[in-house]
Amino acid sequence: ADRVFGGFRKTSERLSSNLSGVVGTARLDDATLDNVEDALIVSDLGPAAAARIRTRLSDKRFGLNITERELKEAVAEEIAAILRPVAKPLEITAFPRPQVILVIGVNGSGKTTTIAKLAHLFQEDDYSVMLAAGDTFRAAAIGQLATWADRINVPLVRGPEGGDPASVVFDGVKAATQQGIDALIVDTAGRLQNKRELMEELEKIRRVLGRLNPEAPHDVVLVLDATNGQNALSQIETFRQVAGVTGLIMTKLDGTARGGVLVAAAEQFGLPIHAIGVGEKIDDLRPFDPDLVARVIA
Ligand code: GDP
Repeated sequence: ADRVFGGFRKTSERLSSNLSGVVGTARLDDATLDNVEDALIVSDLGPAAAARIRTRLSDKRFGLNITERELKEAVAEEIAAILRPVAKPLEITAFPRPQVILVIGVNGSGKTTTIAKLAHLFQEDDYSVMLAAGDTFRAAAIGQLATWADRINVPLVRGPEGGDPASVVFDGVKAATQQGIDALIVDTAGRLQNKRELMEELEKIRRVLGRLNPEAPHDVVLVLDATNGQNALSQIETFRQVAGVTGLIMTKLDGTARGGVLVAAAEQFGLPIHAIGVGEKIDDLRPFDPDLVARVIA
């Protein structure tokens, strides 16, 4: 696990160290359960998941002898139980093609990088991919996406800076359909400061897409920066209202101490978690493996 996740281990050290020394009497008593619950909350798992884990531990083991190591294993098992139902890779199943994947998230969350990583994962599975630069608001965003597209050798559909994102998406779907592309991944603006504009923009994209294919967008993937901790949760809430969200990708789980927010998100929203970002490189997107992640967190 350490090799796979690199810096993500820091997360584990955090909950792990928060869990250290909580077994006071070598038995699972109320004081120990209080400590466990506190450690889980402090580690960003959120009050609901913390309470659920506490209850499960108590139901299974109250009054029994427990070592610190056994406690950590038991916590990992309960975390895995919360994460397993939401682990769901992003699969290419759309018929007719292309599968249109709208990628949303605030600027800086790692959206552009994640799009490139996702495209790369699909390529490795022998799917053809096209990108659409739907964040026409920031010239830098278009440029950055173009650089990635070059690097991984996928076609990019783009429009002028300040142009209409919906028209870029329209061109993208047309080109992808003509070329028999499997997956069209669409970058979108991340200006959450102006919710109303963003909502209208995303609605227009949806409208245009829906006219081309009633099933599109097939996926609306929200990219979240795990270093935002609990803030990531309010972003999920907002984007669910603004855009509808079908699944999550959490980035920057390397070098952060806040992987616990994955558990909070799973508990609170139950949205599929497709993958996690563990670095800046093209192959630093990992399928979301709940058991592995649970062991790393706890
Ligand atoms: P956008 O503004 O949402 O499109 O974000 P970018 O894709 O430009 O990413 C913002 C910064 O986060 C860049 O420096 C990326 O290299 C970095 N980044 C993205 N994903 C990850 C990740 O999983 N881990 C780390 N350490 N950095 C990441």
